[in-house]
Amino acid sequence: MKVNHSNNIRVRFAPSPTGELHLGSARTALFNYLFAKNNQGKFLLRIEDTDTERSQKVHIEQAINSIKWLGFKPDEEIVFQSRRSKIYKKYLNLLLTSGKAYRCFASKQELQLIREKTNSFQYNGLWRNRSDEEINEQLELGSPYTIRLKTPNEGHIVFDDLIYGKIRVSNSEIDDFIIRRSDGSPVYNFTNVVDDHDMSISHVIRGEDHISNTPKQLHIYQSLGFENPFFAHLPMILGEDKKKLSKRHGAESVESYRDKGFQSGPLINYLALLGWNPGTNEEIMDLTQLISKYDLQKVQKKSAVFDSKKFSWVSSKYLLKQDPNTILQSIRSLDPSWGGNKTEDFCMRVIDLMTPRCNFIGDIIKKSHYFFDYPKVYNVDDQKKVWKEKTAIILKDIMKLYEKVDCQDHQGLEVLFKEYIQSSGHGFGQVMKPMRLAICGSLTGPSLFNLMELIGIEDFLKRINIYKNKFNDD
Ligand code: GLU
Repeated sequence: MKVNHSNNIRVRFAPSPTGELHLGSARTALFNYLFAKNNQGKFLLRIEDTDTERSQKVHIEQAINSIKWLGFKPDEEIVFQSRRSKIYKKYLNLLLTSGKAYRCFASKQELQLIREKTNSFQYNGLWRNRSDEEINEQLELGSPYTIRLKTPNEGHIVFDDLIYGKIRVSNSEIDDFIIRRSDGSPVYNFTNVVDDHDMSISHVIRGEDHISNTPKQLHIYQSLGFENPFFAHLPMILGEDKKKLSKRHGAESVESYRDKGFQSGPLINYLALLGWNPGTNEEIMDLTQLISKYDLQKVQKKSAVFDSKKFSWVSSKYLLKQDPNTILQSIRSLDPSWGGNKTEDFCMRVIDLMTPRCNFIGDIIKKSHYFFDYPKVYNVDDQKKVWKEKTAIILKDIMKLYEKVDCQDHQGLEVLFKEYIQSSGHGFGQVMKPMRLAICGSLTGPSLFNLMELIGIEDFLKRINIYKNKFNDD
């Protein structure tokens, strides 16, 4: 959707720091960011930390760091709800004095009895029409009270969701709900509306799980005389079993993806494709491309399924597009000791060989240990398959074959190998496999001769010798 008055587009991402920031929230932040930037608007960050019992400092930091790592820089200072209680008080008083809200002195027990009697969870308006005297009497007694919004008993509340279309809820389904608890703290629906208004938010883009809050929020907008923002609710992200995405599906917090060595680019790219596409088959896009192609109207209503294989594929494509130097910087920021005392040139060549075989930075780190040192362990299953009667003899031959060569390039090393296969009559795998196991510790890895060229003949011979001595009983 291209929106008019582009310079007035203001959106916000508003996490509650009651847990780690997960992929669903990251996608909400991303869609807000893309929409804002596509419309030359502003992207803001608001921490909804009014729930003092459940909000944790560590989660606030995590949320802010995750947003920073994803690359969504807020255009204004971060807003913390915990620092805005005076403002909420001001608006609560306004509602009380205008008669749009009222104090309710009903105790928990009293409310429970009413529920049982009416067989309904809805509040029955017990304090809706009390006289000032009755209210003042309770105030003088110091009785605790909640503040409830006076909502209409008849009619409907209707809003046009930019993704889900027209949503209509009967006012009879909405009771005079609490907007301030008896401990004085305002509830989520109230602070959310006050802040969206105060921050001049034009579009509220958030998870579909908030659709049910929207009618109540619209009543608050109305009572305060605020103009409604546009609403766009995003479909859920599900796991492959079609259940709500969670750790069980291998989908963890944004920070854990970072710590495992994923890069933000492919994560953003993949999250963007969850419920949205640019209308073409294009799948690999960086943040700038995503911004220019983003269209809220193309967001689908259907829940999106998180496919970890597809994410790995996107991530591998990203890796292939980066130059080795950039990859080296990313590796070093994750593991400063990677590469040991090897030269930059050596490290770059490792990256060249490993990039096509890996999906992400952490994958390169995990799989490249054998470039820097001989294997300390050999894969047990591979070893069982590989070690045959003649293996020790073959390895001795190989050592003899390469001991005296002065050629160091992979083509030359391969020629010698092929000559040996022909003259000895041994099978290709019979010779190749133990050589690879000796170098890498398993049967996977890049071309053997490239590897030999890189580590050098001396190191290669040392590895063959260590391997042979470990398994040769003679
Ligand atoms: N704090 C809410 C949440 O984390 C978001 C509310 C909103 O975006 O309106 O789910």
